[in-house]
Amino acid sequence: MVAELKLDRCSINTATLGHRSPISTVIDMVARAGFGAISPWRRDMVGCDLKAVSRQIKHAGLGVSGYCRSTYFPAVSREEFARNVEDNRRALDDAAQLGAPCFVLVVGSLAGDNKSLGHARHQVEDGIGQLLEHARKVNVSLSIEPLHPMTAADRSCVTSLREALDLCELIDPENVGGVGVAIDVYHVWWDYAVKEQIARAGKNKRIDAFHVCDWLSPTRDLVLDRGMMGDGVVEIRQLRHLVEEAGYTGYVETEIFSNLWWSRPEEEILTVCAQRLLTEC
Ligand code: ZN
Repeated sequence: MVAELKLDRCSINTATLGHRSPISTVIDMVARAGFGAISPWRRDMVGCDLKAVSRQIKHAGLGVSGYCRSTYFPAVSREEFARNVEDNRRALDDAAQLGAPCFVLVVGSLAGDNKSLGHARHQVEDGIGQLLEHARKVNVSLSIEPLHPMTAADRSCVTSLREALDLCELIDPENVGGVGVAIDVYHVWWDYAVKEQIARAGKNKRIDAFHVCDWLSPTRDLVLDRGMMGDGVVEIRQLRHLVEEAGYTGYVETEIFSNLWWSRPEEEILTVCAQRLLTEC
């Protein structure tokens, strides 16, 4: 039996608030609203002392559910590819400094004039493979987030949970760890195989993160029209139950990119998130 969700098991991905206030303000707002954790973005950290941010998060009584997100791996040249990998290596260190259990990988896809998804996928596998040892060393999992297929050309050549898990097995065939998946309901809800693939991910201890929002129908923007939980068509609670039945005990993280919500005050977004997490998730 899966338990009712409580707010202290919920996390706010800072993108949900539209990256408007500085991270120090956001941390206090998220804690005041009663959430148990936060998931910051690298762009929130520009010019910040990571040690101080990490300390503030702890003092606020918050956990960290993840760190967002990777630089795309695919590149037009070897030099650019190497730079992308190194950039992600540095981000792993930052994630460790912040106490994040995972670094979310949005892997990228076709670079420049390249039309070969196969080539992009190869670069992604190569890049993650190069980071695996470091990820294990700093104890931060590389969390491949499969994205909805509408993003296949530009944002992610990995478009299903099955594919993400196949990739995990290619990179870590002995299932030692250090690479897993971030399951975002927005990206996987449509998938015929989602139930069996969540079970497979759980069996291999690969579920690093669980993200919620909703799919609006119709959807008017490929990136910035995510819905508040309950406003769309996703059976969010059913997906949470599947993930938890598969053994996931981590945070339920709200991640909403939305021009509509970003036009509202941050405190209001947090209030509605808190309500909907309890009634819809
Ligand atoms: Zn996500």
